[in-house]
Amino acid sequence: MSESALHAEVLVLGGGPGGYTAAFRAADLGKKVVIVERYPVLGGVCLNVGCIPSKALLHMAQVIHEADAFDAHGISFGKPKFDIEKIRAWKESVTKSLNDGLAGLIKQRKITRVQGIGTFASDHSIEVDGESGKQTITFDHAIIASGSQSTQIPVFPNDDPRLWDSTDAVALQEIPKKLLIVGGGIIGLEMATVYHALGTKISVVELMDQLIPGCDKDLVKPLHKRIQKQYENIWLKTKVAAIEPQKRGLKVTFEGEDAPDPQVFDNVLVAVGRRPNGNKIGAENAGITVDEQGFIPVDKQQRTNVTHIFAIGDVVGNPMLAHKATHEGKVAAEVVSGIKAGFDALTIPSVAYTDPEIAWMGLTETQAKEQGIEYEKGAFPWAASGRSLSLGRNEGVTKILADKETGRILGAGIVGPNAGELIAEAVLALEMGADVDDISLTIHPHPTLSETLAFAAEMINGTITDLYIRKK
Ligand code: NAD
Repeated sequence: MSESALHAEVLVLGGGPGGYTAAFRAADLGKKVVIVERYPVLGGVCLNVGCIPSKALLHMAQVIHEADAFDAHGISFGKPKFDIEKIRAWKESVTKSLNDGLAGLIKQRKITRVQGIGTFASDHSIEVDGESGKQTITFDHAIIASGSQSTQIPVFPNDDPRLWDSTDAVALQEIPKKLLIVGGGIIGLEMATVYHALGTKISVVELMDQLIPGCDKDLVKPLHKRIQKQYENIWLKTKVAAIEPQKRGLKVTFEGEDAPDPQVFDNVLVAVGRRPNGNKIGAENAGITVDEQGFIPVDKQQRTNVTHIFAIGDVVGNPMLAHKATHEGKVAAEVVSGIKAGFDALTIPSVAYTDPEIAWMGLTETQAKEQGIEYEKGAFPWAASGRSLSLGRNEGVTKILADKETGRILGAGIVGPNAGELIAEAVLALEMGADVDDISLTIHPHPTLSETLAFAAEMINGTITDLYIRKK
């Protein structure tokens, strides 16, 4: 061991939401922690080029749409003018204040931060290649939180700067006139929302027969209906066959039953999923198993096949969501510190921060049908919600699925403004083993969108008065 070698009781590889949470929790439990991160700031994809900056841009999009919608109701603000430099600076100020916050939290906890690319050298050491050269860090326990990266399509001209991944889209370097989004999933549709608000003509091409394929069709429908009017094209069951760089743009050729003719776009955003970074950390030098997709298999304690090495977040499996990673990070840090912890959450909620937002948790209706699970459903239309109408919106739906015998909540899905905030109540209900009466007999404040969960529950137990349902 060289003289300058650093030793960690807990070494955390990766400073995204999973990694810094694991590091903080382990430090709070008395461990000497070292965190290795390649970038000068903590926060990973989520804070720096993902969830947080995209939410700042989505808020901007919402303000633009809401101001525009009020034109019909007697208030005109005029056409928005964009100062892209200022918008970018504002977005960056949001991430910077969180970066600064994390830097402060690391100092307060006396965690050692090492900047550079970490590669396992053995099952008790890691080599970090940083700006000031290479450094070896030894460890008792390690927690891998190395995340994921955007999936590229090899046949696309990936070196052409006009071909974007989500990081390029969030960077907001320019406002294209025509943007093609490959992949009608969460990233694709969130970025479509942002650029549409900035005046870009949007086309979306999706391989499957619906947008956001993991979500129930009835919840996606109101979003699809709204954006169909806003965007130039939404092509389902269609694939991009080729992208040819030309002087005036990227010429795209499509494949599929209803594939359109080739078209030229200023930019193409590829948002077809993310792949794990399990193969990029020298896992083999530590004897850590990595599967053929690049995921690191773990048990309920987040332990890899090497008993003192743990893994969390995107690198251990889907869904690749920050709130899953942070939860797993706490579990790993606690197990390492001798606490009997395990990942036993009943559900991990999903949210698309589109307009309208879509959020769902627990069992989806599609899964219930596939698995032959008998359920009761209450789907409350927001057209009957005073609060929704006062927002100028009537397309939302709140849906609850309950066990046919016991009435216990099995799943819920919401489409409408603020669905992402509202779903938390359903998650708590599921975790607490609540049934539909628990929700319907809980007094929800009026007039709120949260009432729609109670109304959906009332539709199942037959006590709804805000709608008239003919008796069977
Ligand atoms: P995704 O899996 O959500 O969507 C990718 C979409 O691309 C799918 O609909 C898929 O059918 C489609 N697709 C795949 N190959 C295609 C092809 N060749 N042509 C056309 N369509 C194709 O992935 P994403 O949107 O890239 O997001 C990546 C990850 O990041 C996901 O795990 C997502 O949950 C996460 N994320 C979450 C949020 C959030 O929580 N709001 C936001 C952004 C990203």
